[in-house]
Amino acid sequence: MTSDWSGKRVTVMGLGRFGGGIGAVRWLATQGAEVLVTDRAPADRLRDALSRIADLDVRLRLGRHEERDFRDTDAVVVNPAVPDDNPFLAAARDAGVPITTEINLFVERCRARTVGITGSVGKSTVTAMVGHILQNTPHPGHTWVGGNLGRSLLEALDEIAPGDTVVLELSSFQLARTPAVRWSPRVAVLTNISPNHLDWHGTFAAYLAAKMNIVRYQDPARDAIVAGDDPDLRRHFDLIFGDIAGIWRYGLDGDVPRAQMQTLGSDCDNRRLRWQGLSLAVPGRHNRENAAAALTVAHCLDIPPDDAVAALATFPGLPHRLQRVAEIDGVAYYNDSKATTPAAAITAINSFDGPLLLILGGYDKGSDLTPVAELAARRTRFTACLGNTGAGLVATIRNAGGSAEIFDTLADAVAACRERAEAGDVVLLSPACASWDMFDDYRARGDQFTQLARTPR
Ligand code: ADP
Repeated sequence: MTSDWSGKRVTVMGLGRFGGGIGAVRWLATQGAEVLVTDRAPADRLRDALSRIADLDVRLRLGRHEERDFRDTDAVVVNPAVPDDNPFLAAARDAGVPITTEINLFVERCRARTVGITGSVGKSTVTAMVGHILQNTPHPGHTWVGGNLGRSLLEALDEIAPGDTVVLELSSFQLARTPAVRWSPRVAVLTNISPNHLDWHGTFAAYLAAKMNIVRYQDPARDAIVAGDDPDLRRHFDLIFGDIAGIWRYGLDGDVPRAQMQTLGSDCDNRRLRWQGLSLAVPGRHNRENAAAALTVAHCLDIPPDDAVAALATFPGLPHRLQRVAEIDGVAYYNDSKATTPAAAITAINSFDGPLLLILGGYDKGSDLTPVAELAARRTRFTACLGNTGAGLVATIRNAGGSAEIFDTLADAVAACRERAEAGDVVLLSPACASWDMFDDYRARGDQFTQLARTPR
């Protein structure tokens, strides 16, 4: 791909609501490229994103794509969510137009050492934990956190120095296209793997292959860090990492994070690490596993273990993911609005030992909610149900011997939980469903919950 964008025509496909497209557009414009932004969504659905490029001289083609924008251009920068078999991308390929992504543009030019984190779940949490450790321990250079999480780092490229550390969350979509620039991070983390996004990747094998790209071009000084407790995962990972000389496998001994270096072809473990005395503000066994991954990264970056453990103790969690947002009259309130699937809500419920008051339900995505409703019946003092799925949830919970009621608003649901809660209880919003029947998105739902939780009765 060219290194001089001045005067080049570039089509950016998919502005996106979360910033990747915006970062690419802004960076290309500062490089002097003639940028055309095209998105299938109409302008009114992209208002926020458009306001962030309003100061630039770029052309817009919104509400549709046109083939000529993909043929008569010097390059296409595609949003990672667009699959390779998209007909407009095919038209670009037919015309010999190179296709790249925001993350590829970044990693090709980034001079700092990089940590890349992927997996089916836990990516954002491990990325944020690593960023938090680095930002709270003395070591040379600055820390930059980005990729699939937060902002595009393309615009910061000139400020990122060779002695800095860049921590990137990488989605399977992003990794599907990194081989084009023959790149893998210096430290690679794979948190776990389960069939996901098969509509995009086509097969589980293709999804695994995309994840494998995180180590495909690692140099010999690299570190590969992989979750190692589950036998199924071990099988997948052995498949993935078959040609790599040694990897760190991390997990828990009881609840103590640990990692061990495994040299493939033998089970001999020449190095073992254990981090005693870790206290975490974020609940749940899964978060202790995420901490084990982050602490292994810190080890690979030469952060002294005691410093890393002390830093992680103040990790506040990510917004809307089991985030402790208030404590009133001895009752703690947790916002887990990002739990839009039954599996995520089950993880959240299992993260607490004591009595729970749960807020469950929302938009009906067609998932089977029976297991989460039955767990709620067993584990909660009371479940307040909401949205399209609310009535069905109430019926299942009551059938299973639990206590539940349906409410019209989140405010009523929070009030009902508050009324029934005793000191030491936890009120948890973990809906297991999307939010679109009542809110713009999960963030609006979580923000409203947080505000209600913080308002004393
Ligand atoms: P991602 O960025 O991969 O989507 P997050 O870190 O945002 O993952 O976590 C999303 C949800 O996935 C969490 O709310 C939790 O339910 C679940 N989760 C996170 N980490 C793990 C883990 N290590 N194992 C199992 N589930 C996890």
